[in-house]
Parts: sequence; C-alpha cells; structure tokens
Amino acid sequence: MTSRNHQLFEQSQQYIPGGVNSPVRAFKSVGGEPVFFQRGEGAYFWDADGKQYIDYVGSWGPLILGHAHPDVVKTVQAVVQNGLTFGAPTEAELDIAKLICQLLPSIEQVRLVSSGTEAGMSVIRLARGFTGRSKIIKFEGCYHGHDDSLLVKAGSGALTFGNPSSAGVPAETAGHTIVLDFNDIAGVEEAFNKWGKEIAAVIVEPVAGNMNLIAPKADFLAKLRALCTQNGSVLIFDEVMTGFRVGLGCAQGLYQIKPDLTALGKVIGGGMPMAAFGGRRDIMQYLAPLGPVYQAGTLSGNPVAVAAGLATLKLIQAPGFYDRLADRTRQLVDGLSATAKNHGIDFCAQSIGGMFGLYFSKDIPTSFAEVMQCDKAAFNRFFHAMLEEGVYFAPSAFEAGFVSAMHGDAELNKTLSAAEKIFKSW
Ligand SMILES: *Cc1c(COP(=O)(O)O)cnc(C)c1O
Repeated sequence: MTSRNHQLFEQSQQYIPGGVNSPVRAFKSVGGEPVFFQRGEGAYFWDADGKQYIDYVGSWGPLILGHAHPDVVKTVQAVVQNGLTFGAPTEAELDIAKLICQLLPSIEQVRLVSSGTEAGMSVIRLARGFTGRSKIIKFEGCYHGHDDSLLVKAGSGALTFGNPSSAGVPAETAGHTIVLDFNDIAGVEEAFNKWGKEIAAVIVEPVAGNMNLIAPKADFLAKLRALCTQNGSVLIFDEVMTGFRVGLGCAQGLYQIKPDLTALGKVIGGGMPMAAFGGRRDIMQYLAPLGPVYQAGTLSGNPVAVAAGLATLKLIQAPGFYDRLADRTRQLVDGLSATAKNHGIDFCAQSIGGMFGLYFSKDIPTSFAEVMQCDKAAFNRFFHAMLEEGVYFAPSAFEAGFVSAMHGDAELNKTLSAAEKIFKSW
C-alpha cells in the first residue's frame, strides 16, 4: 500500500525541485521521505495519512504558541476581512514597531521585512553603507539567510577570505567575507589586528542555532562588542531564531550585550512571513527614504502578518511565560539525557529558553568542529525511530529544536517514554 505522503512526494518532485520549497525539508540529511502535513493544533500536527506527531520543530522556530493558537487565528481572521495588503502604512505597523523598541532597548528604530533572509542581507548592506567599509566577519556554522555575501564558508588557512558555500555566488562577493570560528575570540582579535578599520560589521547568532545548538562561551559576545566598538565596526546580532525564543529580552537581554543592529524573524511573525531589523537610530537613518542605503518591499509590514505578530508578542509577555517555557524545555533535555545515560549511550543535550540541542556525543560541543564530530548515524537512527513513535524532531543532526507553550506534561511524558523504548533496545 502506498501512503498519501509517498504519493505526494513522488508528484511534488515532478513540479518542485526536490519536491520541497526549502532544502532541509527533503530529509536528505536523515534519509527517507519527508512527511507532508495537513493540520496542526497546539503541540501536535497530523500528516497526509492522518498520523499524529508531537512537534519539536515548530515550523523551525516561529510557533512558540504551538499550532493554530486560537487568539492568533482569531486576530488574523478579523484583519483579513479588511483587506490583505495596502502597500501603504498602517497603524498596526506603528504598534509593532513601538512594541519591538520597548522590548529591546538596543532597538531605537525598526523596519519590517518579509523573511529572515531579507533582514540578514539588509543589515549587511546598512552596516556597509554606514561605515563605508566592505569587509564583514561571520562565523562558520552560523546561518543568516541566503544572501550572497553570507553564503560563505571558511577558506583554507585561518586568516583567509571565505569561499562561496553555494554555486552561483561570485568569488568576489565571498571575498569580502571573513569566516572565523564561533567562540574563538583569539581568531577575531587576529582578524581585527590585520584588517581593523576595513571591517564594516561582525554578524553573529548570539546563540548559534543553525549548527545544532552551540552556546556562546563566557565573554565571547562581550569581547565582540568591545572589538567592534574599538574599531568602529557594527555589531550585528542575528536574533531571527533566538529573538523572543530564549527570553522576552532575546539573547541580548539574556547575555546583557547591546548590539548596534539586530535581525529578527520567526517568532515575531507568529507563523506568518514577517521579519525585521533595527537598532541604533543614527545607523537606521542611513536607510532610504532618509539616507543613501536602499531597501524596500511590496509586502513589507503586511497587515495580516503584522496582526499575527502582534497577537503573538502580546501573549508571550504574560508573567512567567518564559520561565515555564524554559522549565519545560529543560525537563525534556534532562529527561532524554537521563534515559540515554541509563542505557549507556553517548548522548547529551542542553537547552536555552525554549530552544534545545541533542548531541550523540560524550560532551556538549562548543564549536563547529566539535559539533561535526557528533555521531550523525546515531542521530538519524534516533530520528526515524522517534518519528515512527509519533515524535517529530528536526530532520537533521545539525538543527536546534523548539518547545512551545502548548507542550505540557502529557507531551513530555509521551516523548520520554518513546525515547526510553528506543534507547532500551539501542
Ligand atoms: C531562519 C534564520 C534566518 C533566515 O530566515 P528566513 O525567514 O528563513 O529567511 C536567518 N538567520 C537565522 C539565525 C535563522 O535562524
């Protein structure tokens, strides 16, 4: 019997490259075929064959309130009736801009865009326009969207310019990007010694969540802040993933560092295509129409997306929201670690706020090189076994996981018993 999932995937591959609209969805990393989804509610979603899963991906981060939160859905339904887009300013855009500025003291002005990729490419252009410099520093394993200048991996040798990590990116473009090791402040110091006043910006995920989860070492972010200040470079925190995910103050609140510019996305759109970037007023005023740095968008600040975002940002401000979310996420990783340990499996896990990392290794990795040494085959086995049990983790050993406010004791217990069953016969 062929499943509906299988049929849909077969047909999709004829019309869509790889059958998916974003590569990681294709299950290439874990093998097998992707699951097609039909419906979601709270912590659960159902595939095309009607099978139920507990969702630990949350659409890769946005769904901090779970699927189809009634307040968000109601708000969206109400605004949809008033028109889908105007291409002109609306009051709701002012409301969300004000709210973002209130919640993040580093942001004095903010502009809305439609994806994290747009936010990433816009902050880079803005930092270059503001400083009049071309070079940027990024860290291996950090993802900032698929802008040409950010699709770059380390060159050979520590202090060389990067190479394109995708075909179609000109070497000249990648040549302005210096790729260093996350958590290696000595490498950053060396780069500043060599190129100091040529560096427009350092862009970093303050908690790296696109190479599994890597926490910043003590002082790493503070030293980035100091080096940028000394050299007149713009410090950019890419909080597209960590923003309103690790806490109400985002990662910059958690680690008490004030970046010059911040990119936001995922949670702030409440499941709709919305992202933003903002920061120091003097930098933001370099943007058109005030300044010389061009940036625009037909659907920027789309009223439906903004409504979903506002409804989400309202709910996450409830007292104790992030304490509960962080507790729940910690219970998940502690439970999984304990189960694995009981059965003598080299596995560890950690969480920060509502995001977590699972590692098939003895110790928690602190660098890209270490995370690459985790046992990928073991992860893939675990992933498929959990999927079979109705627990959906990210289909790759190199992605962070997410817990929503709708994940309760029942979901946690089901997840831990599934893991117990799998690790017992490992
Ligand atoms: C998801 C992500 C992006 C890209 O956002 P899209 O909306 O997928 O374009 C950029 N930066 C980080 C840190 C992300 O996690």
